[in-house]
Amino acid sequence: MDNWNIETTCVQGGYRPKNGEPREVPIVQSTTFKYDTSADMGRLFDLEASGYFYTRLQNPTNDYVAAKIAQMEGGSAAMLTSSGQAANFFSIFNIANQGDHIISSASIYGGTFNLFNVTMRKMGIDFTFISPDCTEEKLEAAFQPNTKAVFGESIANPALTVLDFEKFAKAAHAHGVPFIVDNTFPTPVNCRPIEFGADIVTHSTTKYMDGHGAAVGGAIVDAGKFDWMAHADKFPGLTTPDESYHGITYAEKFGLGGAFITKATSQLMRDFGSIQSPQNAFLLNLGLESLHVRMKRHCANGMALATFLSSHPKVAHVSYPGLPSDPYYPVASKYMPDGTCGVVSFELKGGRAAAENFMKELRIFAIETHVADARSCCLHPASSTHRQLSEEELLAAGVSAGLVRMSCGLEAEADLIADVANALEKA
Ligand SMILES: *Cc1c(COP(=O)(O)O)cnc(C)c1O
Repeated sequence: MDNWNIETTCVQGGYRPKNGEPREVPIVQSTTFKYDTSADMGRLFDLEASGYFYTRLQNPTNDYVAAKIAQMEGGSAAMLTSSGQAANFFSIFNIANQGDHIISSASIYGGTFNLFNVTMRKMGIDFTFISPDCTEEKLEAAFQPNTKAVFGESIANPALTVLDFEKFAKAAHAHGVPFIVDNTFPTPVNCRPIEFGADIVTHSTTKYMDGHGAAVGGAIVDAGKFDWMAHADKFPGLTTPDESYHGITYAEKFGLGGAFITKATSQLMRDFGSIQSPQNAFLLNLGLESLHVRMKRHCANGMALATFLSSHPKVAHVSYPGLPSDPYYPVASKYMPDGTCGVVSFELKGGRAAAENFMKELRIFAIETHVADARSCCLHPASSTHRQLSEEELLAAGVSAGLVRMSCGLEAEADLIADVANALEKA
């Protein structure tokens, strides 16, 4: 792999056209692929040869873009999924079975919390949710003999807590399980969790990576460092023969760098079909090409808004890990010294009612479920994305009833501040 800076990888990583091939990533708009003999195709089905046979499992456009994301994160392999939800589901279900247990930070995206706490519990997988700020002793006490992974978000959506990677990685590795990090908010431009011990990195590419609110998608990256065979008893799916693939043992056949993604593709993508459309992968790639340029502006606007809000008389509290006064500033400075993200959370002194009045008065920031794209937007999590959570769960997720999440787009800083100042005045 080329040893480029992240800016060059954003633009040129992944797809490397050969003589006479298209300069831009081609959209392979085909469900299926043609072979000369049944024997040729048989080798693909047996995973004896690599190639494409059906877009429910794999498509060349997706693989070019996944290769770029792997390179950006410093991983060994990657795959695209239909959404961030699918990415996080696969990242866990690829290694955990009925009867297994996962430790997750409590400060995570509402959709991920529901996936874990409701839907995956129905599959017989148990979760312990723990504060990202817990002591090492507390974290240690959360492990059970059936624990199979530790999960957290690098910067949590929407609470904006920052994960202490080394604390979580150390505990996971001491127990012989991988550390999985959802790195959606900072993106690999600002933070590369693999450098700090993450084994698997996931993304909702729907956010900054696409960056234009155009395509829902997800990605999973394998660091290629976790030694499944060294903990073979914990991960039989990777370390014992897969009868649905003629007795292949993924960790033996594909090694450290390939086992996780090959299994997720050939089993989970085959059976669940949560593939990203090649059209969306193409759009995602356009977003990736400018990601390093856009992240700088998102962060500058986020910093300006956070600074403005923190001295406003109607504001009770501001969360932005780039602010020196923020409790997560030290850990953010360590793991993402070039910037965090463009999302700022804050609480108005008037609570829920004031939040709703404030949001109605905004002209540039639009009320949307979405976050992290070119157009500034805002959300009241307690009445939308986190609506299903109980008061206690809201508290654990760092979401108070009056919390407003502001996502700074790429507009002029002065216009964004003026919009917020005007709405605060009227609220
Ligand atoms: C949005 C989001 C998800 C879910 O991604 P979708 O693409 O909406 O399925 C997961 N994790 C984080 C941190 C998110 O912000």
